[in-house]
Amino acid sequence: MELLDDTIVPEHAREVKHEAREFAEEYIEPNAEEYFRRGEYPHDILEAGQEAGLVAQDLGEDLGGRDLSLTEVLAIGEEFYKADAGIALTLQLASFGAEIVEEYGNDAQKEEYLRPVAQGDQITGLAVSEPDTGSDLAGMQTTAEKDGDEYVINGEKYWIGNGVEGDWLTLYARTDDDEDNRYGNHSMFIIPTEGEGYNAEHIPEKMGFRASKQAHIVFDDFRIPEENLVGTEGAGFWMLAEFFNHGRVVVAGHGLGLAAAAIEETWDFIHGREEFGRTINEFQAVQHGVADMRLEFESARALTWRAAEKVEQGEDPGLWAAMAKTKATETATDCAEQGMQFHGGRSVLTDRRIARVYRDVRVPVIYEGANEIQRNLIYRQS
Ligand SMILES: Cc1cc2nc3c(=O)[nH]c(=O)nc-3n(C[C@H](O)[C@H](O)[C@H](O)COP(=O)(O)OP(=O)(O)OC[C@H]3O[C@@H](n4cnc5c(N)ncnc54)[C@H](O)[C@@H]3O)c2cc1C
Repeated sequence: MELLDDTIVPEHAREVKHEAREFAEEYIEPNAEEYFRRGEYPHDILEAGQEAGLVAQDLGEDLGGRDLSLTEVLAIGEEFYKADAGIALTLQLASFGAEIVEEYGNDAQKEEYLRPVAQGDQITGLAVSEPDTGSDLAGMQTTAEKDGDEYVINGEKYWIGNGVEGDWLTLYARTDDDEDNRYGNHSMFIIPTEGEGYNAEHIPEKMGFRASKQAHIVFDDFRIPEENLVGTEGAGFWMLAEFFNHGRVVVAGHGLGLAAAAIEETWDFIHGREEFGRTINEFQAVQHGVADMRLEFESARALTWRAAEKVEQGEDPGLWAAMAKTKATETATDCAEQGMQFHGGRSVLTDRRIARVYRDVRVPVIYEGANEIQRNLIYRQS
């Protein structure tokens, strides 16, 4: 069974999809179980991905990237996530947030910070979430206060991919406290991941996405030069909202990759496992279960590729991104749940691929906005 066929993928994105498939088969799949078990950061696979031109390549050609479109990044996401979610996140996260600097930053910032990421010499990340605030983007408390020609950062960030490993981060911080203008209180900054007042450590062990690493960062009078402000002060919330329209389509791809993994793995298992003198795929109850998985998968995939087109064309991007993210990530949880049941007792063996997928699917329904938040957006923007 081969679910991620390329006929739904626009022609211009097929070549990079094939590159991603080959890379995933050579580097991600054979190492997935081992990295999941050890819970280590896959430095060697990241380096191979950079060399293969499959990491951070949505950045423009003028900066040394490949200027990959949203649909091309989505195509890569499906393939990488089918092979392993933890390693895939590490690969796709290497430029997380850099698109904000590319869109709103000035030439000097792009040259200094984006070029090394596009060329595979540096990695970055996006610091938004906090220990006490996650879903409420306008409620984030970390402050950036102007002091002469510097900003002084205080507060905490949590869940930040590459907060330890990264060379720099795009930081979302509070620059105002206007109760009447909740959405104008935050700004974006480029910050280095070292220096006095920057303290980052890995968050505790996770049950899923184990080959990716997130950090808890504590800022204590951490100073950055004023030229590290990205774009206009007070525009951070809107920059983030627009960025997430793209990001959530890519997260839908995460869900599709995981769902494909669950279905393909289950398909193989049910054709090999015998009970009552026949392989279990011969029971109609099992056939119907797999039929439902397939139905949900194809529906989610059709919606996602339609959403990608809508977002690229700027037609109700917030609505389409939220619908695709919700549908595809929940299809992944449903398919993993059913796949576990058809694996019987073997489903809970930790070295089984289905057990890994079952744990990984818990994450995309949460990150880039929990699905309840997506439903709020879907209702409001409908
Ligand atoms: C593996 C992983 C990687 C991540 N990487 C990053 C990263 O690189 N950078 C970064 O900034 N963040 C990152 N995050 C954080 C992620 O974006 C947040 O976890 C997410 O936004 C949810 O925030 P929270 O966990 O604080 O949950 P909360 O906001 O506390 O929400 C908990 C639950 O409450 C419910 N809820 C909350 N608000 C509402 C509402 N308005 N309506 C209905 N229900 C609601 C939902 O069920 C929700 O799941 C990562 C998270 C994970 C798990």
